[in-house]
Amino acid sequence: MPRILITSALPYINGVKHLGNLAGSMLPADVHARFQRARGREVLYICATDEHGTPAELAAAAAGQDVAAYCAEQHLAQAAIGRAFGLSWDWFGRSSSPQNARLTQHFADVLEDRGLIEERTDQLIFSIDDNRFLPDRYIEGTCPICGFGKARGDQCDHCGSLLDPIDLKDPYSVISGSRNLEARATRHLYLLQSRLQPDIRAWLETKAEFPALARSIALKHLDEGLIDRGITRDLAWGVPVTRGGQPRTGFEHKVFYVWFDAPIEYIAATEEWAATSGGDWRSWWREDEGASDVRYLQFMGKDNVAFHTVSFPATILGSGEPWKTVDVLKAFNWLNWYGGKFSTSQGRGVFMDAALEILPADCWRWFLTANSPEHADSAFTWDLLTAAVNRDLADVLGNFVNRVLKFCEARFGGVIPDGGAPGALEQALFAEVSARLADLTAQFEAIETRKSAQALRALWVLGNEYLQEAAPWSAIKSDPERAAVIVRTAINLVGLYARVSAPVIPFAAEAMAGAVGEAWPPSWPSADGAAELSRLAAGSPVVAPPVMFRKIEAADVETWTARFGGADEA
Ligand SMILES: [Zn+2]
Repeated sequence: MPRILITSALPYINGVKHLGNLAGSMLPADVHARFQRARGREVLYICATDEHGTPAELAAAAAGQDVAAYCAEQHLAQAAIGRAFGLSWDWFGRSSSPQNARLTQHFADVLEDRGLIEERTDQLIFSIDDNRFLPDRYIEGTCPICGFGKARGDQCDHCGSLLDPIDLKDPYSVISGSRNLEARATRHLYLLQSRLQPDIRAWLETKAEFPALARSIALKHLDEGLIDRGITRDLAWGVPVTRGGQPRTGFEHKVFYVWFDAPIEYIAATEEWAATSGGDWRSWWREDEGASDVRYLQFMGKDNVAFHTVSFPATILGSGEPWKTVDVLKAFNWLNWYGGKFSTSQGRGVFMDAALEILPADCWRWFLTANSPEHADSAFTWDLLTAAVNRDLADVLGNFVNRVLKFCEARFGGVIPDGGAPGALEQALFAEVSARLADLTAQFEAIETRKSAQALRALWVLGNEYLQEAAPWSAIKSDPERAAVIVRTAINLVGLYARVSAPVIPFAAEAMAGAVGEAWPPSWPSADGAAELSRLAAGSPVVAPPVMFRKIEAADVETWTARFGGADEA
């Protein structure tokens, strides 16, 4: 049985993430981690904040804070909000950790030892008033091709031309607006990805389990030809550039590029986890030290695929060391906000902190799983959210649980009733549950996010159908033994729902498990419906929980639309 290593793309440090970030990496990773743990597998789910780079420096400056203090504070905020969403990270690390600095410097050393790094001189734009080199995205000016006045240093959004900031006419600093700029020569380290192209292509060929989206993105980059990539920057905030453990001459005021050190943090965060837990991080990452039984799954949005199928493999394969590489790369499309994009700067959409102010985590987890932007972009609308909460959670699941347990309290004193034997209706239910459980397990195992939600909902629907047909409220008058069988079976369904729903809606699942005396943390059921619906024995107490899912009212949607927008943008 393989051990399962799961990483989700590292959220960037500058502020609370929006629901699209949650839906496209952290949530599906968490759902899968919870599923595999319930199956009894050894799971390590790692995530971290991605803390280096210019945006962090600028966000800290805007907040009037030192960048290290800013990152420390933002990390704690993101960790707290993630936990409030039920993200069950085994470790939530920081790319600014000493472990990541050491590992990043190690990779640079071995890559250079193998002739895959060289120093080159670049002409970059220096802003005299800002007293810093400007990254491409922080320079704007007039497009030399079409004359558009706000072309960015790397690309013109008007005509789509890829640009070099040197070519912009009348350029200015986005940071200060200053036009007091000049080109200056600066030395940088380049990773010779062009030489690694055949190795990366051969490696990709071995990855039979990559889904089509990930494979096609990787092949597109390989077919276009990899270019050598600058892996250092003229910045103060980042991993210092060293050679053999000493500051590298001429690089004292430079750091490694954030995209070089960030994916290395997957490994370094595991080292951070080990430092606290006493675990053996190398056994998860080094194939020569036990990682050959590890199955490694990465979760990310589609914009991150190239970095994970080309750039990070270039670092890993180029090192020539036996590091574990990804087996399953699960990429997601975009969750859109009414057909447009979520935007922090324009305040469009719902962010993770505000989301929890208006609805419990499980409502969001269910909505974002059932409407996952998995095989295509999907759109957030208040109508879809309302349908997911009111119909699926409140009407189908919550209503069933409440009816069954209230009935048991009213008619059987809140004790699972004894007596009677399963009849034809129960046999049919057992067969149906067996088939649905087999399907649900297969969908979770395949990380088919939307199909998992559909299979889960199909199991919930069986409960109401069974109750409607079996009608214990009639049976109790004429045949109490028959009513006992029905209630006992239905309570076992509640216990089963707690177990199978736990990956997606862990908070409600724990409440359901507690209500009927099902064990927690949950174990995953077999596909034997008869056995799984006979676990909870007669004689043990049950307690109806308070209403599990409050319905969304029209007035709620009105309030939220006023606060977050939505309806008028449809
Ligand atoms: Zn243009």
